[in-house]
Amino acid sequence: AKASGKDKTVFFNAGIGGQLSRKMELEKDLRLALEHGQFFIVYQPKWDARRGKEAGFEALLRWRHPEKGVVSPGEFIPIAEETGLIVPMTRWMLGEVCRLNKRWHDEGKFKVCISVNMSYRVFESMTIFDMVDEALRSSGLPGPMLELEITESIAMKNMTITLSQLQRVRDLGVQVSMDDFGTGHSSLGRLDEIPVDTLKIDQSFVKSSDLASKQALIVGIIGIARLLDLEVVAEGVETAEQAEFLLSRGCILMQGYYYGRPMLPEEVEAGAWRIDSA
Ligand code: C2E
Ligand code: CA
Ligand code: CA
Ligand code: CA
Repeated sequence: AKASGKDKTVFFNAGIGGQLSRKMELEKDLRLALEHGQFFIVYQPKWDARRGKEAGFEALLRWRHPEKGVVSPGEFIPIAEETGLIVPMTRWMLGEVCRLNKRWHDEGKFKVCISVNMSYRVFESMTIFDMVDEALRSSGLPGPMLELEITESIAMKNMTITLSQLQRVRDLGVQVSMDDFGTGHSSLGRLDEIPVDTLKIDQSFVKSSDLASKQALIVGIIGIARLLDLEVVAEGVETAEQAEFLLSRGCILMQGYYYGRPMLPEEVEAGAWRIDSA
């Protein structure tokens, strides 16, 4: 209550200092997180609203920090990218995802594709093909049961590097989807040159899909996907209204809390999130 201008300044500096040291601590701890087994993976269903069954899952990384609890990917992925740690983390993740999906296939649980997010740093490292090839070989999972999610900025950053690597993984049968579609810059003009199978409509459009202007953009993206013969998935679907609007415009693949949150493999297997068992 008796905070003077001077006190505020001190407090403000402490705040900034606190943030900096948290980031530095996380950076230090991230280096050991992989070998200490602190990462785990959750799986969010992509729902086929026409068939009424799951069409796939997106694998999302989680970090259980020994003192700080679960740190959100929004916080640690940028650090992992800056430090390059994202490369071994992605390699680990590809291995885990392929092994789990192979088991699900063998046990007849799910016969669907699981997607893994690919950071631009992984493209820069030029190791994508080797990582994917290794994960598929060691698990025995067929290539078409794995999907890589890339963003528009990756595709635009270095077109030559991206295209050659994408082509090589696609030769293994691996699927590619364009994440957060509509939020990047000026990729529309070259979308036909990038080898992708699927467009993911960004959550920001879905969130405001009660607005006529956003509806027009969604309809436009669905139209582009149809013309280029691509699948389209809507992301961040939270309400029945959003789902109904998307369905009415011909988008049948949905991902979002309305259909299922990211879950542990055991929770996915238990199937409690399935619409037909709700
Ligand atoms: P993203 O690839 O766009 O992933 C979708 C994010 O939206 C996930 O957040 C997911 O939990 C969240 N989400 C899904 N449905 C809904 C919904 O209905 N409403 C809302 N509000 N959110 C929803 P998450 O898991 O926190 O991941 C955030 C971002 O971190 C991801 O965005 C992705 O860019 C990055 N990320 C996560 N895991 C990985 C990874 O293994 N590798 C890389 N490179 N990036 C990752
Ligand atoms: Ca994604
Ligand atoms: Ca996304
Ligand atoms: Ca996003």
